Amino acid sequence: MLLLGAHISIAGGVDKAIERGEKLGCDAIQIFTQSSRTWKCFPIAVQTQAAFRTALKTAKRVKRVVAHNSYLLNLSTTDSVHRKQSVRFFIDIMNQCESLGIESLITHPGSHKGEGLAAGIRATVQSLNEVMKACAGFETRILMENTAGQGDCIGHRFEELRSIVSATSDPDRIGFCFDTQHAFAAGYDLRTQADYEATFDQFERLLGIKKIGAFHLNDAVKEFGSRVDRHANIGEGFLGKEPFQFLLNDKRFRGVPMCLETDPGEDDRKHKKDLKTLRSLVSR
Ligand SMILES: [Zn+2]
Repeated sequence: MLLLGAHISIAGGVDKAIERGEKLGCDAIQIFTQSSRTWKCFPIAVQTQAAFRTALKTAKRVKRVVAHNSYLLNLSTTDSVHRKQSVRFFIDIMNQCESLGIESLITHPGSHKGEGLAAGIRATVQSLNEVMKACAGFETRILMENTAGQGDCIGHRFEELRSIVSATSDPDRIGFCFDTQHAFAAGYDLRTQADYEATFDQFERLLGIKKIGAFHLNDAVKEFGSRVDRHANIGEGFLGKEPFQFLLNDKRFRGVPMCLETDPGEDDRKHKKDLKTLRSLVSR
């Protein structure tokens, strides 16, 4: 089953995101469980949990929900105060996800802030181990997202993600989220069938395609290998439509939630257009 959707606002409460996803015609949605720009994190009220679960159960269209971690977190920093604060926050968000029955929480590793890749990877492994220990037995799975490799951000090379995950105490508990724009910016081409196959062959060899628990479908504002994290609406950037055609018709990825993280536009007009474009690329 194809599970197409978008990142959806939770304004008015997390349960409202499901209604918005329904209206937009999403099969899957991504949400923040709380404001992505503040360190404040409160447990989700029991009534809200119930409203969210009921909304999902009764939704005609939306079948799956994934969450994205806060942008304030940095799991890769060697600054122990910021790292510990990040881990605590990550654990709080994991608890929110678990209380809502959200299947996965997508996270970026973080930035080593000039301390070097090796130190950054060590810090990331330590952070993930602490989160997994505090969240033992959780249904919510952690998905590490490939990054564009902007500045000192870790995780744009599949090798880096492998170094992190394989060094954790429980690699099986960690899956991946594949972002098309980040991959392209990081130097993994997707524009021809051969490039697409080569990129996923590398992914399979280093990380395992079966561990992909979500996709972010974004076109690219900047050119190939730019290492700049900027998403364009589908077909309006340097990726073009072809990579999405390959992805949407790749049977290996059926049943994996695929969400836009593009500009929704006024009244979601751009998201509607993106979804229409994507659906037009699916072969019957
Ligand atoms: Zn993304």
